[in-house]
Amino acid sequence: MNLYSLKMRASKSQDGIEKHISGAEKITGEDSLFIYSKALLTRALYHSKGKADFINIKIEKVNQEDILFLDALPVTTVNVSSYQDGIQKLLAMLEKIGITNASAVLEKLKDTYNMRGAMLLNVDTLERLEPNKDRGIRATYMDEVNSVMKKKDTKDHYNEAIVLATKVAYAPNIIGEICISDDPDYVTGYVASKENGYMRITKLKEMGSEDGGRIFLYRGDHSKVQDCIDYIEKREVLVKNISSILNKPYKTEESTKNKWNFIDKALENLKYNNLYRTMNEIKSAQSAHVTFQGKEMIMMASNNYLDMSNDSQVKAYALKAMGKYGVGSGGSRLTTGTINLHNQLEELLAVFKGTEAALVYNTGYMANIGIISALCSKDDVIFSDELNHASIIDGCCLSKAKIVVYRHNDMNDLEDKIKQNPCSKGLVVSDAVFSMDGDIVNLPQLVEIADKYGLFSMIDEAHSTGVIGENGRGTMEYFHMTRNPDIIMGTLSKAIGSEGGFVCGKQELIEYLKNKSRSFIFSTSLSPAVMAASIKSIELIMDEPQRVQALQENIQYFCNCLREAGIEADSETAIIPIIIGDEKSAMEISRELFEQGYYISAIRYPTVKKGCARLRVALMSTHNKDELKRAARVIAAIVNRYKRMREYV
Ligand SMILES: *Cc1c(COP(=O)(O)O)cnc(C)c1O
Repeated sequence: MNLYSLKMRASKSQDGIEKHISGAEKITGEDSLFIYSKALLTRALYHSKGKADFINIKIEKVNQEDILFLDALPVTTVNVSSYQDGIQKLLAMLEKIGITNASAVLEKLKDTYNMRGAMLLNVDTLERLEPNKDRGIRATYMDEVNSVMKKKDTKDHYNEAIVLATKVAYAPNIIGEICISDDPDYVTGYVASKENGYMRITKLKEMGSEDGGRIFLYRGDHSKVQDCIDYIEKREVLVKNISSILNKPYKTEESTKNKWNFIDKALENLKYNNLYRTMNEIKSAQSAHVTFQGKEMIMMASNNYLDMSNDSQVKAYALKAMGKYGVGSGGSRLTTGTINLHNQLEELLAVFKGTEAALVYNTGYMANIGIISALCSKDDVIFSDELNHASIIDGCCLSKAKIVVYRHNDMNDLEDKIKQNPCSKGLVVSDAVFSMDGDIVNLPQLVEIADKYGLFSMIDEAHSTGVIGENGRGTMEYFHMTRNPDIIMGTLSKAIGSEGGFVCGKQELIEYLKNKSRSFIFSTSLSPAVMAASIKSIELIMDEPQRVQALQENIQYFCNCLREAGIEADSETAIIPIIIGDEKSAMEISRELFEQGYYISAIRYPTVKKGCARLRVALMSTHNKDELKRAARVIAAIVNRYKRMREYV
């Protein structure tokens, strides 16, 4: 396989000055070149420092015999509570590597603040050795071995820093390096050397300060200056065995007294394991097309399955309610927070689901924890599907009942577990449509088994309401059932396009919950506009079932397109999982799809099991067939390329 060096540098002009935005580089195999180029381009275009107006991407072939392999410097973390402490630690470290005038050396860092590269400093004479004082020395042509093997996420600042420090530490006549980031939000810096490794110091400047720079510490006569610079700027280096922050015991030299340490540590571990979560800011209404990072994208990840969230009639009705009733509801439902809209919505929900009564909660999450914890207590048993939603799991925990988990949608296992765990009061609870797999619960059998053993039956219709059944009424309609489960829970935040959770069932159940369900009682009720939106949305779904049918047609059509393109897909719900397997590939595929204008989420551990990472496509009634066909082709092309690559590696 041919190897290439890939470099990106992005800047923009501000007040006539060229301002650096981002720079990154990789050494990578031919078949990953395309992916990484796009990843780096994305980084340049959508950087938090602004949009680049100059981007330089340079790709050069690397001669494999020239590559120098180095073991990564070992990492130590020093936790400090203030940047003054941090500076003291840094000075002590400099003295440890034999620098006697440490303060004077550190003072020189100020001269690097506006430099793009690093200063090359003779630590004994304090003479600057870099030929161009504005540009400095730039360490380049380096990467970690894993990048070549296509195993690494491209955005890993921790690893990039260690690669650079390792390369520099091995340069001729270099005895160490000091680095403080110029990122105003990043106060951690390091001092590195071949003997003492890479020492991260958690605070080296004040939060918000852009004062950062880098010095390569040189000792010896100047005959080797050019060798040193050539090595740092030109020699190809691959670094291996970078130690994980997680695997290494997190060495704290400074007080474990600092109460914030555990938070720093937890966040760092998440970042290291690619499990750190951030939020995407969408700059338009939630609809089939959205504006994200400055461009229009096809939204294929939203739970707004019927596009009700942006429906003009729904919005108009909500606005009208706001005009009449104001924005806030002013109290909890049992005090002053019930207006006629709350009662109307509950009556409508009962009709929609075919039950005696209904009750609205503020969210689906609150409904689940409120219902389950009110119904069950210490001596009861709850039988729960292993793939149930987190809000069901939390409700079970809150109830203090014994929780028995049965195999996913396996009614034989459910019955076995019930026989093994006899109880005088119990509950069987399941998602109706499973949120990450998109499959449908075997409800007729679940209700039959619950009835046989005298247990309550409960389903969560978050992803079935408005989606399955001829008229979108959910799972009972889908199975043409005459006997409902005892407790039908759902949410107004998905196909309904609004906000809130609900429960439908017998009148006495609803009366009981009004009196006993704490998440219902102790929270301010939803606002009038939200109530009105839910009412109008449900009315529209009831009056115009063609909206639901359009969604169902899209689901069939899209699954067909995927199958034609060689991707297994078979769903009757708006959730279409495309199983990828490993977390890294799933993330990379999702990133590529984003770059192509498809907003499709990758779902990984802990939301799904390790090694079961997937794309989770969510369809909407308002996607048109042409764009679905194109999307299926693009997805299939990328996914199939990954599959081929995996066989090849
Ligand atoms: C989304 C979801 C919920 C929570 O509903 P919210 O209204 O978002 O709080 C509950 N159960 C399932 C299965 C869900 O997917």
